Amino acid sequence: MFREPEANLSPSIADEVKFTTCYMCACRCGIKVHIKDGQIRYIEGNRNHPVNKGVLCGKGSSGIMQHYSPARLRKPLKRVGERGAGEFVEIEWDEAMEIARARLDRIRRSDPKKLAFFTGRDQSQSLTGWWAMQFGTPNFAAHGGFCSVNMAAAGLYTIGGSFWEFGEPDWERSKYLLMFGVAEDHDSNPIKIGLGKLKARGAKIVSINPIRTGYAAISDEWIGLTPGTDGLFVLALVHELLKADAVDLDYLVRYANAGWLVIKAPGEADDGLFARDADGDPLSFDQRAGALAKATAAEIAPAVVGEFALPDGRKAVPVFHLIAERYLDESYAPEAVAQRCGVSADAIRRIAAEIADVAFNQAIELDVPWTDWAGRRHETMRGRPVAMHAMRGISAHSNGFQTCRAIHLLQCLIGAVDCPGGFRYKPPFPKPIPPAQKPAGKTTAPCTPLDGMPLGFVMGPEDLLIDSDGKAIRIDKAYTWEAPLAAHGLMHMVISNAWAGDPYKIDTLLLYMANMSWNSSMNTARVMEMLTDKDETGEYKIPYIIYSDAYASEMVAYADLVLPDTTYLERWDCISLLDRPICDADGPADAIRQPVVEPDRDVRAFQSVLLDLGARLQLPGMTREDGAPLYPGGYADYIVNHERSPSIGPLAGWRGANGGSEGRGAVNPAQLDAYIANECFWRHELEPKQRFYKFANKDYLEFAAYMGFIAKPEPIVMQLYGEPLQKFRLAALGHGPIQPPESMRETLKSAFDPLPFWYAPREEAQIDRRRYPLHALTQRPMIMYHSWGSQNAWLRQILGRNKLYVATAKARELGLADDDWVRVTSHNGSIKVQIKTMDGVNPETVWTWNAIGKRAGAWNLAADAPEARKGFLLNHLISELLPNKHQRRSNSDPITGQAAWFDLCVRIEKCDPGDETSEPQFPALPPLVGLVAAPSINQFGAQFKR
Ligand code: SF4
Repeated sequence: MFREPEANLSPSIADEVKFTTCYMCACRCGIKVHIKDGQIRYIEGNRNHPVNKGVLCGKGSSGIMQHYSPARLRKPLKRVGERGAGEFVEIEWDEAMEIARARLDRIRRSDPKKLAFFTGRDQSQSLTGWWAMQFGTPNFAAHGGFCSVNMAAAGLYTIGGSFWEFGEPDWERSKYLLMFGVAEDHDSNPIKIGLGKLKARGAKIVSINPIRTGYAAISDEWIGLTPGTDGLFVLALVHELLKADAVDLDYLVRYANAGWLVIKAPGEADDGLFARDADGDPLSFDQRAGALAKATAAEIAPAVVGEFALPDGRKAVPVFHLIAERYLDESYAPEAVAQRCGVSADAIRRIAAEIADVAFNQAIELDVPWTDWAGRRHETMRGRPVAMHAMRGISAHSNGFQTCRAIHLLQCLIGAVDCPGGFRYKPPFPKPIPPAQKPAGKTTAPCTPLDGMPLGFVMGPEDLLIDSDGKAIRIDKAYTWEAPLAAHGLMHMVISNAWAGDPYKIDTLLLYMANMSWNSSMNTARVMEMLTDKDETGEYKIPYIIYSDAYASEMVAYADLVLPDTTYLERWDCISLLDRPICDADGPADAIRQPVVEPDRDVRAFQSVLLDLGARLQLPGMTREDGAPLYPGGYADYIVNHERSPSIGPLAGWRGANGGSEGRGAVNPAQLDAYIANECFWRHELEPKQRFYKFANKDYLEFAAYMGFIAKPEPIVMQLYGEPLQKFRLAALGHGPIQPPESMRETLKSAFDPLPFWYAPREEAQIDRRRYPLHALTQRPMIMYHSWGSQNAWLRQILGRNKLYVATAKARELGLADDDWVRVTSHNGSIKVQIKTMDGVNPETVWTWNAIGKRAGAWNLAADAPEARKGFLLNHLISELLPNKHQRRSNSDPITGQAAWFDLCVRIEKCDPGDETSEPQFPALPPLVGLVAAPSINQFGAQFKR
């Protein structure tokens, strides 16, 4: 009998499959890369990987085009023309390294802080920060100050963890999720997987976001509030919950500082600080004993309201008393905030009632006994199944730190932090509040490492990085009175300050993966001028720029020396617990990248270059006693053999001589082999009894101490009332030996409130809103990772240009229709763009996708590419300085220095379309020497059919 030949439904497409970690966004999913004849054929999600469990997004699959991008740099470059002209010659690595070594050696021997080292979306900050420390410069940060430091710092100063990398909703159990200011960005695949779980269980998802895109599009309720008013909205929810007595007081006195006493002594130097005993421990009023007691003692019943006498006769009140007093005030009532927020009072009241109902009437109980830090056994784990998540929409406002604290206050009040159904910490969090590491760099000296890492957490004015005259020690002015809690630095101020010589001139700017002449800067056109500006002697005001990147980004043209990096598929990397980990709430995890193909160009991984440079400079920790390199095998050698403290290194898995240890252990020379055998990741599953209440869970705290996550297995008490903030306020009131300048006192007094509060974004407060009545936002698209994605041949087909989205009703009011050209004007400048109307946006808000616009000629794209001719950046409109520019105050959150790029206000007016080209346009960059010709038709894949 005739039989049809069977169809081969799974033809072999590859002759080799290698595991590694995606780098097409910050999420770090596990991937399987299929390779045929030494070429990348196909990328697949790794089903066993803890981050993505097999899910691969469009960006991840398009990694092939990132790897084969014609924009890849091919060889070190030395500038030969004027800076900015894009004229280079190719040089050998030996010459490039010697140029860098000689320059940096001279700086290190004279004044190490004249090197400013800033990185972009670097995933190796524990190495780059450590390198800066060993070099001796405090001028180091990654792009966090431009991105989300408000979210990170507010969390770390309040609950000892934060959203995204440090925590996640309990996707398995939550019944109600509030998402604030989240586009389809960070933590992409885990959130998508999690939202799917919530949807499948019928949980309610509420999105609070001026724009209904990304995750908001699948939410059950969209609250399209006015940008920058989230804090007011949240505190109105707090008002309603307090009014309804819907707070978990038992939780608050056990796990937060609700019962700690705050000194009430207006005018005195310790007003508003915690009352402490002779040991310096905070005090509560124990209702059982009828006396003051150590607030951290296990068996006390702290009073949460009332006024109590201290031994010196002064009065003190519990933190919760202040909370109730503050937020029960009618100024926080829904009616009082509704108009400002653009949300009806009824909606606010209803959401508060829904939160209360789910938290208290639908509480869950896990039948899992656990033991708290004091040894008390609890038979069950109680859960308040309301979870919260927030990201850049909160962070990128100048009131973002206090707003994020308000969200944490809200989730603490209902007892929903690290309980079943609530927000959950991902190890190594929670950490002590704030983490113990202080920023180093108070003193610098030639050939001397810093006495700690450049970034850290300040506790009061004494920790600021200012000299005896109050002048900033860092070039970005982080940890000064302008940005005291600047835990991630102020990347957006580096070029502006270096150009202005304020607080001093630098010698060399070393940048890695930071597109600072384009989408990673505010005031882009002006930044380009600063990068090329010369002083009266004819020297560049920023004397020398070394740039490392894998691609011909806009920034390359402004470098004096270009060090070409590999793609993510050609390199070793570690996603380390010392850095930005990939853990989930049920267990710590880390991962590696391995080279799945060899570079076909003369490029080197930046991390290996940095270690090589360190050895050539004879930096401690990178050089043997005989002067030879300590890590001759580059980054892979460092990943295995470096120990940050005895027995703790970049990777936690397979430590010890035989690979049998986790977390701690001697160096294992075969560690990378063990990771590769385990599909390039390691994960430790917590026992059920360790998984919740991690801040007070004896078994978890002991595990965390063993792993080196925390110094001691002691409870971590959530700080609803932030004493470090009050210390800055007291300084502003004239107390203490370290005093702010007069010009800063009012800002410090108002912004450094120890309880969360709302204030109008700073730019709004300084401009005439009648001239700039609309808010303007950018969102990261789900299919791009900043400028990387918008040059990717496959991803460009999805979004090759951007438009300005305007609410349909607002467009009608302004006489605008789809595809009209408009002029968008802010206090800082004007751009010309095309619009599109939509309904899912707050009517007083316009917005666009981030980093789609490109400079003509950059990224090896055609000079008339749609990204260059029609795409645009809002960055041109955003100033790095507040509108009163003579003061040179950064456009930032006054607490953390977070770049406030969501504070932008504009007006839009219909304009002549002209040649239908967006403005501003800049001279096209010439083709970069050495790049391959970009094909006019992408025929990738055809080669596999031949
Ligand atoms: S979410 Fe990010 S890391 Fe994960 S597959 Fe997509 S691009 Fe890669």
